[in-house]
Amino acid sequence: MAVDGETMLIKDASIVEGGRLCRDVNIAIDGGRIAGIGPGIKDESGDGEVIDGRGKLAIPGLVNAHTHLAMTLFRGYADDMELMPWLSEKIWPLEAKLTAEDVRWGTKLGCLEMIRSGITCYNDMYYFMDETAEATKEMGLRAFLAEVVFDMRPDQIEGVEPFVRRWKNDDLIVPAVGPHAVYTCSEETLLKTKEIAEEHDLLLHIHLSETRSEVESFEKSSGKSPVEYLDSIGFLSDRVVAAHCTWLSPKDVSIIAERGVSVAHCSISNHKLASGIAPLDRLQEAGARICLGTDGASSNNSLNLFQEMKTTAIAQKCAHSRPDLFAAGEVWRMATENAYIAFRLDMGLRAGAIADLSLIDLKKPWFCPLADDNIVSHLVYSAQGGVDTTIVGGRVLMRDGVIPGEVVILDRAQEQFNDLLAR
Ligand SMILES: [Zn+2]
Repeated sequence: MAVDGETMLIKDASIVEGGRLCRDVNIAIDGGRIAGIGPGIKDESGDGEVIDGRGKLAIPGLVNAHTHLAMTLFRGYADDMELMPWLSEKIWPLEAKLTAEDVRWGTKLGCLEMIRSGITCYNDMYYFMDETAEATKEMGLRAFLAEVVFDMRPDQIEGVEPFVRRWKNDDLIVPAVGPHAVYTCSEETLLKTKEIAEEHDLLLHIHLSETRSEVESFEKSSGKSPVEYLDSIGFLSDRVVAAHCTWLSPKDVSIIAERGVSVAHCSISNHKLASGIAPLDRLQEAGARICLGTDGASSNNSLNLFQEMKTTAIAQKCAHSRPDLFAAGEVWRMATENAYIAFRLDMGLRAGAIADLSLIDLKKPWFCPLADDNIVSHLVYSAQGGVDTTIVGGRVLMRDGVIPGEVVILDRAQEQFNDLLAR
């Protein structure tokens, strides 16, 4: 398998260009970046690995803009509840027993699932971030990681800067700063996290206006919506990635768009917890940047952006009685280009970009019949799998459906879950 710095040539693959299928394209990879892409492109070194791309579609890496990866261990543990009782009765008591080893194996389990569905980069806020970072590096994925900051855990904020210093020069891990939400962090805490993010030029990752009751009780106590409040303290900017944004007033929508905040929309999690349907139509109209996240596997219960794209599109169409809203191409952009801007990633299928991509097997029922102009429709509305090769930074993480060490990870994650329940 090729490692960073080695050369590689993907031969005769298809790609999407301008929304259309473009066949017989070669992709040369060198030093972790795409060295060239197009018909007849060669591996200049002449001795690199060759991957047969015939019958495969190369797609740029998908970005999971909001998750808590180690919560894969809670998959199926507590379903069919509303957010607040779900958190306070089920999730928080179990999280109180969580160890670094749980997080390590939960993270690896999550990485397996994302590699299998073409996600090459994810944005996480959780506990034991050093273990998350180590496990992610071992799996080879790219990640923006923030130790979650709550006022009830004052030690967390103390750990932010040391974590940033430990990881800020890593090639795959990008530290971020993660104040949990306005209802769990004081103004002092929020401003401190903003100061750290500015000092080190990092992203700020926060939950924002997820449920109606959260917004109503915040408004009752402060006289402002969570968005208005964050804006009044100068917190909002284009370094903020705000997860959910389900309950927004028209004024909130314009503030988000004006400040350049990136919205991490988590369609399936919002629907499963019955939190609501985010006003993506108004955000889109105002010019806000919308990305897609899975949230944790505890409330989803998958980590799959193909499912997220389809659910986002059909829920918005239905909610607004407008089938013409959120066409496949727009939703595809949310999982790719919008996220590349939000996370400042030099990504995409073009020469010079970092080599984070997947190959999808087109010989699947859900890609048939295939025409030059229906490929994006198939990716958003029809695809149910078929990602068989995933590459990050020029390193092959999965080839022909095989991820080295997968069975060991599945066994260890199962053991950690059994152990956690017995504690
Ligand atoms: Zn979340």
